[in-house]
Amino acid sequence: MAGRDFLAIPGPTNIPDSILEAFRRPSVDFGSAEFASFVNDIWADLETMFGAYRVMAYPAVGHGAWEATLCNLLEHGDSFLLPQNGLFAQRWADMAVANGFDPKPIDVDLRRAPDPALIHDALVADTAHSLVGVFVAHTETSTGTLADLAAIREAIDASGHPGLFVVDAIASFATDPVPMAELGIDVVLASSQKGLMMPPGLSFSAISEKAIERNAKVSTPRSFFSWAERIDPEWVYQRFGGTPPVQHLFALRAAIDHIEAEGGIDEVCMRHRRLAAAARACFAAWGEGFEINAIEPTEQASAVTCIRTPGMVAGGIDVAEVLVTARDRFGVAASSAMLELTGKAFRVGHLGDLNEPMLLGALGGLECAFRAHNVSHESGLEAAVGALADG
Ligand SMILES: *Cc1c(COP(=O)(O)O)cnc(C)c1O
Repeated sequence: MAGRDFLAIPGPTNIPDSILEAFRRPSVDFGSAEFASFVNDIWADLETMFGAYRVMAYPAVGHGAWEATLCNLLEHGDSFLLPQNGLFAQRWADMAVANGFDPKPIDVDLRRAPDPALIHDALVADTAHSLVGVFVAHTETSTGTLADLAAIREAIDASGHPGLFVVDAIASFATDPVPMAELGIDVVLASSQKGLMMPPGLSFSAISEKAIERNAKVSTPRSFFSWAERIDPEWVYQRFGGTPPVQHLFALRAAIDHIEAEGGIDEVCMRHRRLAAAARACFAAWGEGFEINAIEPTEQASAVTCIRTPGMVAGGIDVAEVLVTARDRFGVAASSAMLELTGKAFRVGHLGDLNEPMLLGALGGLECAFRAHNVSHESGLEAAVGALADG
């Protein structure tokens, strides 16, 4: 096919050329002083970007950061709150159970963010302080909702509960603000293939001093994922539990530089917010056959939108087939929906290395697929153009 295909899935995301090129560099001796200082410089930048006391890294996908965070903070049998705002929260809870931990769900309507009042009440009810803390998926990639971290912080404080505050920011880091230091978040999880615009394979737990104190007391068996050697490593090998992923680190350097060149992470988040608003203006203009899943405007994530398709369901049009047409004929890959939304919605990722014409191209490609399948809709492109031009 001529030209470039457009990736409008919520990860892996578009990769800037400077980051792709970083992977073409030959390997180096990771034992050299030069490489050690190269990595230490990256770490200083990462600690600043996260607002963290320390940053733990794993040559692993986001699931690795999930498991590492669980087994470094929890004893077997320990319970903690984990609001069930979508599939990723569910998978994290399943992983916790498989590892011998005891997540306590908080019910969440899949069209809404977790309710801070329910978190508050569950913490107040825990008079023995047996809950280790609140673990929450910030951007729930399956539903497109965004948790209100400041409100959850307030709920924890108001409850007087001493628990930890742990945030899965895998989809939100560098797309919506995650003010770790300001909100006293104890762990922020991130992964390379979303807002960091890299290939999958490197994930992080940025941690607070309080998290380190907790970690020192926990005796759960762990080895590769243990934080102990990663906290103040004597040599670069220890940061990664083995051979440093050299080219991923070249790419991470390029990713941090790319973010800095755009004006820093706050500026990057503002771009995501602008592009997301334009995308949603388009989706809303498609008309009655479509509904943005996240019904509260303040709870809509800048990384991804889940769009319900009641019109296609009523018309007997298979949303999966429309997505195949969008991808294979019009060069735009969007994602299917998950959980009970399967077959009744689809998802558009608008994160990573993305600009205005790329977004408009992706929206246009989706509309081409709608027409090819006789999906009843108004064009939303004009609305997106308006939002971008006025925003
Ligand atoms: C993508 C994602 C994950 C899982 O990341 P993997 O790299 O696929 O393991 C976890 N949580 C959220 C919110 C995500 O978006």
